[in-house]
Amino acid sequence: MRVYVLGSGSSGNALLVESSGTRLLVEAGVGPKVAASRLAELGVELGAGELDGIVATHRHGDHFGHAGKLATAFSAPLYLHPGIDGVEPAASVEVRRYDIGRAFRVGALTITTVQVPHDAAQVALRVDDGTHALGIATDVGRVTSGLVGLLGACDAALVEANHCSEMLAFSEYPDVVKRRIGGGWGHLSNAQTAELGARLVGSRLARLWLGHLSRSNNTPARALETVASRARGIDVDVIPEASPVALDVRTTRPHQLGLPF
Ligand SMILES: [Zn+2]
Ligand SMILES: [Zn+2]
Repeated sequence: MRVYVLGSGSSGNALLVESSGTRLLVEAGVGPKVAASRLAELGVELGAGELDGIVATHRHGDHFGHAGKLATAFSAPLYLHPGIDGVEPAASVEVRRYDIGRAFRVGALTITTVQVPHDAAQVALRVDDGTHALGIATDVGRVTSGLVGLLGACDAALVEANHCSEMLAFSEYPDVVKRRIGGGWGHLSNAQTAELGARLVGSRLARLWLGHLSRSNNTPARALETVASRARGIDVDVIPEASPVALDVRTTRPHQLGLPF
């Protein structure tokens, strides 16, 4: 399973999962031109009809703002859950509904979702090709046992480490914004993501990629240090906000294979 992260942060989120001949875009926070050019930087060409689907997590602009345009440009169906309501993509866009908590398939991939707290109806996803599984949890207000269970059944996951609580507290953001970001329906702090990492120690999860870092209230070094100190035995890395990266989902913990060591 290959993962091409095209953007991760408030300027736009999207990643392409490719496995067994299926290509699935998760989130739609960058436009078709940006998606195509960032994929080209990674040596991937994506034309109309070459994308099997676009799965939306929630309706905030940095995750969903380009959904209609992407679906049109790549002639791909758009997968929405019932919490993403009141959106009217162009008539030419094929909308397919999925229920939160009920697995569905796109080509060779099985997608499972759990609801997570955020100030828009939001899901975390697990994308499984039968051999490897990737978790994606972008905007999350607080860690839930459902989220831990979902990510613990993945080989690798992209999870937000949005802000450092101290930097947020001393930032120039208005109090109402600070409360929104730091509250239980906003975004995970580094410490919360570290706590999540600690709860995932000993699970199937071998790699944790930190994304959706705040430009003003976090630094990659802080996020990495805070999370890695708790997620012992899990490889932790930071995803850049707007330069594309290609990742491999292949590492499975030896004990998960039942090998004698
Ligand atoms: Zn959001
Ligand atoms: Zn976001």
